[in-house]
Amino acid sequence: MAARCLVVVLGATGTGKSKLALQLGRALGGEILSADSMQVYEGLDIITNKVTPEEQQLCKHHMISFVDPLVSNFTVVEFRNRAVALIEEIFAQNKIPIVVGGTNYYIESLLWKTLIDTKASSQYVSCWNGTMSPQTLTDRKAQLEQLNCQELHLRLTQVDPEMAAKLHPNDKRKVARSLQVFEETGISHTELLRRQQAEVGSGPLSGPLRYPKPCILWLHMDQEVLDKRLSARVDQMLVDGLLTELQDFHRRYNQQKVSENSQDYQHGIFQSIGFKEFHEYLVTEGTCPPETSAILLQNGIQALKQVTQKYARKQNKWIRNRFLKRPGPNVPPVYGLEVKDITDWEESVLKPALQIVSSFLQDKEPAAQPLRIDGETNENRRSHHKCELCNRIIIGDREWEAHIKSKSHRHHLKKRPRDLGAVEMQDHPKLTHRDDLTTEAGDRVVLTAEYDLTQTDRENPVPVAGNDLASTV
Ligand SMILES: [Zn+2]
Repeated sequence: MAARCLVVVLGATGTGKSKLALQLGRALGGEILSADSMQVYEGLDIITNKVTPEEQQLCKHHMISFVDPLVSNFTVVEFRNRAVALIEEIFAQNKIPIVVGGTNYYIESLLWKTLIDTKASSQYVSCWNGTMSPQTLTDRKAQLEQLNCQELHLRLTQVDPEMAAKLHPNDKRKVARSLQVFEETGISHTELLRRQQAEVGSGPLSGPLRYPKPCILWLHMDQEVLDKRLSARVDQMLVDGLLTELQDFHRRYNQQKVSENSQDYQHGIFQSIGFKEFHEYLVTEGTCPPETSAILLQNGIQALKQVTQKYARKQNKWIRNRFLKRPGPNVPPVYGLEVKDITDWEESVLKPALQIVSSFLQDKEPAAQPLRIDGETNENRRSHHKCELCNRIIIGDREWEAHIKSKSHRHHLKKRPRDLGAVEMQDHPKLTHRDDLTTEAGDRVVLTAEYDLTQTDRENPVPVAGNDLASTV
């Protein structure tokens, strides 16, 4: 009997992972689960790159188009609960579950036992029946997000100072999430994570693996080639009817909101790459001169190409950091498949993929070697830094390094008042707290200005894609 093995196909958008998953599913008798935070919603099929109904006929696909597009608070916890149940069903039928994606924290939620269940999320589970209605429970996290950044961060500081120090005050989603965890469990997020990590098999970034020895494949290609491919794919989307799709979706779900000035591109499917980029075009279409409309359309297409390329880079960066640098004993190996040329797919991608998966199914070591890159050690991605000079809070060692080298920081350094003269900020890369601002002569530097926390911090941008509910911080 074949080993119980979860297959995961990773890859940036445009690398052909849906195609590979489909081929593996057909060849090995599998069913496919999409782990994509936008594909769960009904609508916008072209822009979210859903597999076509014909492809779905060839192999069973799950987790696609089952949430009403007006649901704004579908969470990764709900995704995980549903997907884990499906994976069990697929195993029970002696078939192979193939996860393909997608959204990093959705994949993490399946690979590791990491997420914390809170009251709201377990209540959601009981209303799982086909498509969810928008009239689900009021989401406490969304309520909290209505508060301003300072207020939220202050509240978190009071109940969970450790977590508050690791989160940038502008990172509303994560701050609200940690507060929500406290409110609903009565235990601080920090303490919950500590307990979780004390479990056997945990690593520094997550709890133990949910399925032992998952078979993980990563499709990757040269970035320049991928950029060209993504650009060409946007052009193909236009040929396939992208504009009609966007116009139709806008009329059905967004027009009313725009007229009431209550459009929200931060939650649910409305944050999908490729929708907000066409906002100007969609809201003015038919009411402005055709030449203006044509320009707005071109701007939308250009923006779509750029964000797609940027998103692909972000996805690959996550794979490198989360997997290839092997940040912990509970990180499974990843087998790389380089997509060089579409005409060479069978030889360079499909065949090796089948060999690797077959080895896993026979519980043997595959002939191919997993990828691994050496990561910088000791880097703290959640360390708290305050730049007194620029009035900014910076989270993470690398971000801090970047900040002290940045133009804006050097600009402030030049402009600093005389009494700050003795502090050579650039010579103090470890400058973290206000206490560190003591000069070598022993003079304390006096803080004068207020923190402007409403200003978005460039080095700690507030995440816009996805709701980052993974509890790993
Ligand atoms: Zn600075």
